[in-house]
Amino acid sequence: MGEYANQGRTLPCKWCDRPVRLERRFFPRRYCNRRHKWKHRFTELFGEVLGGGA
Ligand SMILES: [Zn+2]
Repeated sequence: MGEYANQGRTLPCKWCDRPVRLERRFFPRRYCNRRHKWKHRFTELFGEVLGGGA
């Protein structure tokens, strides 16, 4: 709670839960690096396909 306030605005990486500092205002990164972004996107895609009854 208070930890995040001291470091400025941060979000946990959606893949590994590391705190990611928000440097951009309009396109904040929610992943600590690109690979985690793609990993998460692929996971979501496969999750949709598998969960869609295919
Ligand atoms: Zn990450």
